[in-house]
Amino acid sequence: MTSPVFLIGARGCGKTTVGAALAQALGYEFRDTDHHLQQVTGKTVADIVAAEGWEGFRRRESASLMAVSAPQTVIATGGGMVLAERNRRFMREQGAVIWLQANAAVLATRLSAYPQSAQRPTLTGRPITEEMSEVLHQREALYRDAAHHIIDAMQAPERVAAQILTALARDDG
Ligand code: ADP
Ligand code: MG
Repeated sequence: MTSPVFLIGARGCGKTTVGAALAQALGYEFRDTDHHLQQVTGKTVADIVAAEGWEGFRRRESASLMAVSAPQTVIATGGGMVLAERNRRFMREQGAVIWLQANAAVLATRLSAYPQSAQRPTLTGRPITEEMSEVLHQREALYRDAAHHIIDAMQAPERVAAQILTALARDDG
């Protein structure tokens, strides 16, 4: 298998953490659509949203997805990447799509434990657990719809990466 591996899931589910480990295990490149966006624009996600609104951000996010997709690459996608139907279709057609599934309480705990979560504006301005719960409720069907494989992301990162490797090996078999 050489097609790209796309990691999808809510902010905090471990796309960056697990993606880097997975890429290393596969001998693939690792790319992150949020990082790509920041490199291209020279702005943080928060800056882009402030200047262009969420709609502008979503448009640029789609462009980043296309730009980083390549063979032998693991791609960590922004949490809202699945919102656009064309992004979901693109990922499904181009490669293997993995949903890192975690519940709102786990996501909120991870995000509030690390100050870098503050780099990103909250979507609703409400408390983080409440917001994660609502975001998951809105997006769960989209993650499910886009995913070829659903992996329990509430285990140690090495376990999560190992389960993805097993799922990918099964695809090849
Ligand atoms: P994402 O890229 O999906 O937003 P990150 O990989 O940045 O998520 O992880 C968010 C935070 O949660 C980080 O501080 C990371 O260390 C932690 N984390 C990620 N995956 C796990 C895991 N499987 N178990 C425990 N903590 C994790
Ligand atoms: Mg990330």
